[in-house]
Amino acid sequence: MGNPESPPADAPMLPGAPSANPGAAIYVTQPYMPPLEEFLPYLREIWGSKWLTNNGQFHQQLEAALAEYLGVKYISLFSNGTLALITALQALRISGEVITTPFSFVATTHALHWNGIHPVFADIEADSFNLDPRRIAEAITQKTSAILPVHVYGRPCNIEAIQEIADTHGLKVIYDAAHAFGVRQNGRTILDAGDFSILSFHATKVFNTFEGGAVVSPNAKTRARINDLKNFGFADEVTVVAPGINAKMNEVQAAFGLLQLTHMEKILAGRKRVAERYMAALTGVRGIRLPALPADVELNHSYFPILVEPGFPVGRDGLYEKLRERNIYARRYFYPLISSFSMYRNLVSSDSRNLPVATAISEQVLCLPIFPDLGPAAQEAVISLIREIAG
Ligand SMILES: *Cc1c(COP(=O)(O)O)cnc(C)c1O
Repeated sequence: MGNPESPPADAPMLPGAPSANPGAAIYVTQPYMPPLEEFLPYLREIWGSKWLTNNGQFHQQLEAALAEYLGVKYISLFSNGTLALITALQALRISGEVITTPFSFVATTHALHWNGIHPVFADIEADSFNLDPRRIAEAITQKTSAILPVHVYGRPCNIEAIQEIADTHGLKVIYDAAHAFGVRQNGRTILDAGDFSILSFHATKVFNTFEGGAVVSPNAKTRARINDLKNFGFADEVTVVAPGINAKMNEVQAAFGLLQLTHMEKILAGRKRVAERYMAALTGVRGIRLPALPADVELNHSYFPILVEPGFPVGRDGLYEKLRERNIYARRYFYPLISSFSMYRNLVSSDSRNLPVATAISEQVLCLPIFPDLGPAAQEAVISLIREIAG
C-alpha cells in the first residue's frame, strides 16, 4: 500500500516465525471486502458507459449517499485524504503558521508543508489524545492563520473550545477527520465542525474505496470552489479559475464506495463486537490501561488503542515484539511523533519539553488488531498473550 499504515513488508514471511498462530498473520486491520459478485454489476455498468472518471454517475450517487449517511450537506469526493487536506488548505488560502498535533499520521503535517505553511506543534490531552485547547491558545502568534486538529481514533476533539479560540483570534479551523467516519456526538455528526472536515477512504480506514477521501464544506459556494480546485481549477470547459490539482475520485472507486456503504451496519457491528470483547478481557489487567470512552459519543471503533504502562512486565515495545513473534502485527500509532521526523524535528515547537503528554502517550500506546472479520479465536490469541505476560 506504500503507506506507513500498511503491514511491514517482511511481515507475513518471517523465516522461522513461531507457529503459535500457524499460517494466518493477524494485522492491525483488514479491509472489509463485500462479495465480489456484488461488485460485478457495477463494473459492467462502467464498461458499458465507458465513463471512467470526471463526476460520473457513481461519483454523483456516492456523494449523495454519503451526504445522507453522514448527515452533512456539502461533500466532495477525492482520490485520497491527503489531497483532500492539501486542497482544503488551498481553498482557504492559508499561509503563515498553523497549529497542529504531533500525535497523528504524518500526512496531517505534510499537507501543511506542501502548502508552504509553517507547522507549529501543540501538546495533546492525556484522556482524548487530541489537541489540548489550552496549549493551542499558548501557541498563537501574529503569524497564526489556522488550527489543524485531528479527531484521533475517531474520538471527537473539544470542538466548542477550539471554535471559541478560533473566533477570538480570527483563525480558520480545518479538521482532519480521517478516523471519524460516521462518528456522532450527542446524536449528531461532528463533520460539520470548523471551516472544513477531511475524510480518508484509504484501505485501512473504516469505510474504504481502495484509496479515496472527501472534503466536507460548510456551504454550496465553498464546495464549488473545492470542486474546481480538485479538477485543475476548471470552472467550465474554457475557464480556469485557480491553479488547481488533479484529485478526482474515479468511477471504480466510487462504485466500490456505494457497495461498501450498503454493508456499513455489518462493518460497524463487527468492530463494536471486537472492541467490547477487548474491553471485557483487558480491563484490570496489570500495567494495561484502556482509555476511557468519551461520553455521548457513537464511536466507529476504527482503532483499539491501549496504553502499556510501566507496571507491565515487558514494556510497550516488548509487548509489540512478543505479539510479532506470534504473527500478530499490532501497530504503535502514533509513534514516532510527527515532530520527531527529520523534516520537522528542528522546529522550536518540536522540542519534547513542549510536548510532554504526546511524548509519553506515543511511548505507551499500542493499537490492537480490530476489523469486522477478526474471529473469536484470533482475538483470543491476542488477549491470552497479553494476559499471560501481565501474569
Ligand atoms: C489515513 C490518514 C490520512 C491520509 O489519508 P490518505 O487517504 O491515506 O491520503 C490523513 N490523516 C490521518 C489522521 C490519517 O489517518
